[in-house]
Amino acid sequence: MRERVVSTGSRKKLGRIAPRRLRAPLTRSEMMGRVRSKDTKPEVRTRSAAHALGHRFRIHVADLPGKPDLANKARRWAIFVHGCFWHSHENCRLASKPRSNTGYWSDKLARNQERDAIHAQALRDLGYQVLVVWECETRDEAKLREVLTAFLSGPSLPSENCRREGRRQDSDKLDGQAYKQ
Ligand SMILES: [Zn+2]
Repeated sequence: MRERVVSTGSRKKLGRIAPRRLRAPLTRSEMMGRVRSKDTKPEVRTRSAAHALGHRFRIHVADLPGKPDLANKARRWAIFVHGCFWHSHENCRLASKPRSNTGYWSDKLARNQERDAIHAQALRDLGYQVLVVWECETRDEAKLREVLTAFLSGPSLPSENCRREGRRQDSDKLDGQAYKQ
């Protein structure tokens, strides 16, 4: 009974969306606008994998350079989940350069790369280990786990010995609110 209600509702909703052929094709900027939204699939996959491996972290940590997608201040690690196109993943088919408006895009992408480098360096200066997880890596669950395990269980990270950080994360890990340690 309940199931039938739910499925009727979703059919109704779908009925309001114009069929694909009646909608104008998306411009590249509209496409990229969608890609850029928060909580992207690659981000969610990375968080789930890190959780499954038993790690604690906060997300979109606004008071760290570059606002890392995942970070643990006690253990001094930060992870950025980068879209291959936006952050120019080298030799990656997802990072193909647009054929139109090339000047605009190459400037924009170059600026992103510069910013990424500055943020990573600023974090290292604060004593953080930094990992970039690429969008394409998150498509293979086993590979993603491997990458995260190598980084998060690596000898260079201090052990998780700060309980305060853990409790703090439990209560506010889903908001991006800044707090000072
Ligand atoms: Zn890639």
